[in-house]
Amino acid sequence: MNSLKVLFVAAEVVPFAKAGGLADVAGSLPKALQARGLEVRVVLPYYRHVKRYFAQAPEPPEFRPQVAALKVPLGESKVSGMVHWSELPASQVPIYFLENEALYDRPELYGERGRDYPDSAERFAYLCRGALELCAALNWEPEVVHCHDWHTGLIPLYLRYDENTPFCASVYTIHNLAYQGWFAGEHLTVTGVSRWPKAVEDLLWDGRLNFMRAGLLNADCLNTVSKRYAEEIQTPRFGCGLEDLLHQRREVLFGILNGIDYARWNPATDPYLPAHYRPGKLEGKKVCKQALQEEFGLPVRAEVPLFGMVTRLATQKGLDLVAAVLDRLVARGAQFVLLGTGEPQFHEMFSQIAQRYPRQTGIRLAYDAPLANRIYAGSDFLLMPSQYEPCGLGQLISLAYGTIPIVRATGGLADTITEQGNRPNGFVFEEYDPEAFWRAIERGLAAYQDRKRWEQLMANAMSYDFSWEASAVEYERLYRYALERRAGSLKSQI
Ligand code: ADP
Repeated sequence: MNSLKVLFVAAEVVPFAKAGGLADVAGSLPKALQARGLEVRVVLPYYRHVKRYFAQAPEPPEFRPQVAALKVPLGESKVSGMVHWSELPASQVPIYFLENEALYDRPELYGERGRDYPDSAERFAYLCRGALELCAALNWEPEVVHCHDWHTGLIPLYLRYDENTPFCASVYTIHNLAYQGWFAGEHLTVTGVSRWPKAVEDLLWDGRLNFMRAGLLNADCLNTVSKRYAEEIQTPRFGCGLEDLLHQRREVLFGILNGIDYARWNPATDPYLPAHYRPGKLEGKKVCKQALQEEFGLPVRAEVPLFGMVTRLATQKGLDLVAAVLDRLVARGAQFVLLGTGEPQFHEMFSQIAQRYPRQTGIRLAYDAPLANRIYAGSDFLLMPSQYEPCGLGQLISLAYGTIPIVRATGGLADTITEQGNRPNGFVFEEYDPEAFWRAIERGLAAYQDRKRWEQLMANAMSYDFSWEASAVEYERLYRYALERRAGSLKSQI
């Protein structure tokens, strides 16, 4: 079997630029695929964050500026841009950074003060076009382009309609269907699809552009990041208006669970922890809890249950449920720490909570990767009462750190956390409702009081393996299937 050539195009890739789980996937899966013998290359915008990474990281991988000069068609004109090269850390996976100062040299990835940058259509049209131009400039033809989320939705459209693009299949992964890349009709020019009437039809929806929908209509295969979410998005409750389209394409719609990179998420080696621990040798976890209580100015008490959250502050994450149970949690003597940033209304909500309960809650409204690790390690419980959760990485990380997740049974949370069977690893509730959430917390607290049961639960949690290897096998199968379908669709046109 030949080694497949796969191009990854994404708006976030760890460790260079990250806002959420997409970055973890785009930075980790290519390595697991390369380990299977696939030839993978990655493309990311050259954000200010990337420059900062290379300026500050203690041991950055090699960085070569100006590997290629591109002319990227953007609307009526061709924009000149540079491309820089490096490798994903601890791998030989090439990553190319598309430079365009006007579009990407900004303080944030997507927007500021809760508002997306007004030229987002242009920024990500450039990424899509630029990635394909780059392949031509490098004289490297991928067999599959793996697109991620709305930012890359134009790629399957170009591959289908533009005869100047290479013959290759496209796989489109939905990480979060709620963000679709909606833009006013006037942005059509910048995408360059006006010359293909059918492409315009696919891109316009109710007079506005929708990048996600264009990708979903034109990719050879679709997938999302858990089997449960792949089912859920075919229903009006989760489909964000695209449920009918997804249901029609269910033959090519799959669910492949995300993994985590255990080299990075490992309490036995994690450089950000004050002490290390491993299954069967958990003394270090107690030190981590003590240090976390100190870090947040909470009373240092080993026996008090400590609940943690590391999350984007968005409605999706079930923060109203957290607010609704917090008084009861505090009344039970528990401690609560949260690290998160996002929508202003939630900043306000958690600031008030911090003021109300200064001795029992610790709130950090920021993005802080090292602190996230210390919360995963130092907490007893991790709360994820999400309204929906395509996969969720927090619960997988917390399992690795022996921290017990309490989750709502949706998407990837339902596929990875179980309260039943012979290897329970957390607490699960069904209805999106504070009472159901509280009952799950109470079950958790009861287990916490029972030392033997708690130790078993922690041992179970740490014994789960959600590494990328298993998912990489499924992705390779998906790529081959996409190629078959692409070849088939070409034959049917002849
Ligand atoms: P989503 O992609 O919806 O944000 P996931 O659970 O899939 O949710 O991924 C979230 C990732 O981002 C996790 O790795 C989590 O640790 C990290 N994260 C979220 N918020 C923060 C924050 N404020 N500081 C540090 N890491 C964060």
